[in-house]
Amino acid sequence: MPEPLTPGELLALDRQHVWHPYGPMPGKAAPLLVGSASGVRLRLAEPVEGQDELVDGMSSWWSAVHGYNHPVLNDAAHGQLERMSHVMFGGLTHEPAVRLAKRLVDISPEPLQHVFLADSGSVSVEVAVKMCLQYWRSLGKPRKQRLLTWRGGYHGDTWQPMSVCDPDGGMHELWQGALPRQIFADAPPAGFDAAPDEAYAAHLRELIGRHAEELAAVIVEPVVQGAGGMSFHSPAYLRVLREACDEHGVLLVFDEIATGFGRTGALFAAEHAGVAPDVMCLGKALTGGYLTLAATLCTTAVADGISRGALPVLAHGPTFMGNPLAAAVADASISLLLSQDWGQEVKRIETGLRNGLAPAADLPGVREVRVLGAIGVVQLDHEVDMAAATRAAVREGVWLRPFRDLIYTMPPYITGDDDVARISAAVCAAAREG
Ligand SMILES: *Cc1c(COP(=O)(O)O)cnc(C)c1O
Repeated sequence: MPEPLTPGELLALDRQHVWHPYGPMPGKAAPLLVGSASGVRLRLAEPVEGQDELVDGMSSWWSAVHGYNHPVLNDAAHGQLERMSHVMFGGLTHEPAVRLAKRLVDISPEPLQHVFLADSGSVSVEVAVKMCLQYWRSLGKPRKQRLLTWRGGYHGDTWQPMSVCDPDGGMHELWQGALPRQIFADAPPAGFDAAPDEAYAAHLRELIGRHAEELAAVIVEPVVQGAGGMSFHSPAYLRVLREACDEHGVLLVFDEIATGFGRTGALFAAEHAGVAPDVMCLGKALTGGYLTLAATLCTTAVADGISRGALPVLAHGPTFMGNPLAAAVADASISLLLSQDWGQEVKRIETGLRNGLAPAADLPGVREVRVLGAIGVVQLDHEVDMAAATRAAVREGVWLRPFRDLIYTMPPYITGDDDVARISAAVCAAAREG
């Protein structure tokens, strides 16, 4: 065993050597040191604000839908570990990857039949983009290599995904000019239940029609735009995109990395609209938050198109493609999800968040409170004071990670009613202090 390090030593080394997401080097704000996690609780290595454990309102960036240290997922991981943690996927295959792929085909919208297993959400978006561009190249239309999206989106931090993130005010604004230049529609009008705006639908149709010659694909997050602003829109616009893409010969990609596996109240957000994309990206909750894994699914038409090209293969193959450990846990996580009335759990959390967050609407500085499925959002009329808001939540015994003007929660589906109430109270406290 290595020499144990004290919490103080760990935090000092962390600050000196370790990058954190979107962080400076050396680090500024001290992260909380987590020793273990179980159920919906993170146990801190040393108490902070008098708390030695925190109810997790974030599901570790929306992935840990079953909570932590779940016996079923632990068993799946242990069992697979005894067989093999990893083997290469070139020239070899294995049961966990085959089972998972078949399962994803079975539960996703019907036309999606083929699965590329990638190692992170951003990579699955890169693969989706490559699929679309290569499809048109293979069909002799190499000019079709741009993407269209609507503003307010987020698709990851690698190069192609960054090019379709919201170009203004987001984390990737710095790279304007260096990134491929894509085509941006206005952000979709807000409100899941709002009546569709005909003028906006016409705007989408016009833009897709005008750029059809150079468009490979339209890529959007269906129903919920996550890290780009936690906003909800009417599923009707997804039907508009589907129709316009079909009419003008453009592929449609749904990035369901945040929305997949029940978060919005449907297993996949595409189901709210009753349309299927040509390509779909999954990630985050895919392994129940245990391991990094993502998937890009496509239709047989897309796969066939690629196979007809001068280069009849999809030239992509990460070292850890199809990782058996991650695939086995993902399959167990999906089984676990489907073995229960997950829709009822998400509804229960939705009701709890609606009740618990309602008081926030009356707080000074709050612009809007919105809830959809197991997603609760309080939007301020100013940039949140992240340190103050986080501290306020920790004082309530809850872990939240606000950003921009948003204090939000996406709790694990196993969060009990009392803990949903506690998370809601913490969001309100964070809104008051932030
Ligand atoms: C998180 C996210 C990504 C990126 O996934 P990573 O695993 O962080 O690379 C892409 N798209 C959406 C919608 C996401 O929420």
